Amino acid sequence: MNQPRIVVLTGAGISAESGVRTFRDNGGLWEEHRVEDVATPQAWATNPEMVWRFYQARRRQLQEVEPNDAHHALTHLQNNLEQVTLITQNVDDLHERSGSSEVVHMHGELKTLRCEMSLRSEVRMEPSDLTDDVALCSCCAQPSAMRPDIVWFGEMPMHMLEIMNAIDTCDVFIVVGSSGHVYPAAGLVDQANNAGAHTILVNLEAPINAAAFDEVHLGPAGELLPKLVSTLLNDND
Ligand code: NAD
Repeated sequence: MNQPRIVVLTGAGISAESGVRTFRDNGGLWEEHRVEDVATPQAWATNPEMVWRFYQARRRQLQEVEPNDAHHALTHLQNNLEQVTLITQNVDDLHERSGSSEVVHMHGELKTLRCEMSLRSEVRMEPSDLTDDVALCSCCAQPSAMRPDIVWFGEMPMHMLEIMNAIDTCDVFIVVGSSGHVYPAAGLVDQANNAGAHTILVNLEAPINAAAFDEVHLGPAGELLPKLVSTLLNDND
């Protein structure tokens, strides 16, 4: 039997049980910071110190968190099926640290910084990279300032062609832990439905786009996703 082609899209909710705060739940990051103050190109242009401190704190927090059972379930799925594309809106590296490979980070990554001159990204997670001091690149003859390697509101998500192609050809599309507010990620379920895929949602509570899914599982991803992955793998036996 042909193996199903599966695309998984994860959002902040999959990392919540690891202790990484989401954006829109109670206690979420936006309660302390206005989006426009820390996550837009305008904020970087007008108050780079505040934006830098916000992301350096997020980068330091990466060292204090570990992948949870939901991340491990997706690694298990990738290890047991040939065609699983893992796309994440998350900027943490918990999928990679769980053992997942070729993770498509559509909103950038915390562990890298981007040279403002050459636009090249470098992994910068040494202790000296995690202070609130400005970081300089190692790629330009005259070292240039670096920015967080994050897709801010108003900027184009990364890898969109690869993402659209994967969804257009998938049999099953699974979304985990996403509030359905941030586009274009929130609209990918419509594309999957148009492509004829079976669409599945795993989320703590029903998000605004819940009606777009064929199958909805409400509860913590760390509990529900391992069961869903077992079912998918048994169905394929
Ligand atoms: P969001 O904060 O808007 O929504 C999170 C969703 O996850 C909510 O619907 C919530 O009900 C659900 N959720 C919370 N705990 C859960 C759990 N234990 N199990 C399952 N679901 C749970 O996040 P979003 O939709 O990803 O969009 C916000 C943007 O913020 C993203 O683009 C992302 O780049 C960024 N972000 C990333 C991180 C990270 O890297 N971990 C954290 C916060 C925000």
